[in-house]
Amino acid sequence: MITVGILALQGAFVEHARVLDGLGVSHVLIRQKKDLDKPIDGLIIPGGESTAMAKLLHELALFSPLKKAIEAGLPTFGTCAGLILLAKELEGSDVAHFKTLDLTVRRNAYGRQLASFMTKGSFNEDLIDMIFIRAPLITSLGPDVTTLAIVDKETVAVRQGNQLGCSFHPELSEDKAVHRYFIDMVEAHKKKRN
Ligand code: GLN
Repeated sequence: MITVGILALQGAFVEHARVLDGLGVSHVLIRQKKDLDKPIDGLIIPGGESTAMAKLLHELALFSPLKKAIEAGLPTFGTCAGLILLAKELEGSDVAHFKTLDLTVRRNAYGRQLASFMTKGSFNEDLIDMIFIRAPLITSLGPDVTTLAIVDKETVAVRQGNQLGCSFHPELSEDKAVHRYFIDMVEAHKKKRN
């Protein structure tokens, strides 16, 4: 039995919680430092607004403990703004956040109208709906980063060790493939530690 923490400061955390409910996976919402007293086996960082989320992470003293946990190997899944928070570099900016995922992103840059759209794409051999909302464009990948999905020749989902990231919003469509993949990562990691 695993428990997944969902960062719940801002953005689409309720939708991730609903997907986990649908998959029968228990979860806790992380809103303040004392929420980290409960043990978690994995972490979801939702989409939303990365700048606002980063500000709250620092104000609530959640930033350092979460960064340490991710660096120590806590399986972590960042979607959209969550991917931006994990990225090592943000193009055109001196500031990046957790810097644990070895890639560069350009904010608000992915998509035909640079806005929002839905498309179909393959994720790890499943054809799924992908919803993009002012999504980040991944502009470079480090050597240890594996691409799990490509749309219009651009990488839209990646994995590096225990980190999973995607520039779309899998919590907003019916397909559960990406969440299932993450749950497998969390379970495999837990098994290895026990
Ligand atoms: N544009 C947002 C940002 O830069 C991300 C959008 C999203 O999460 N849907 O943080």
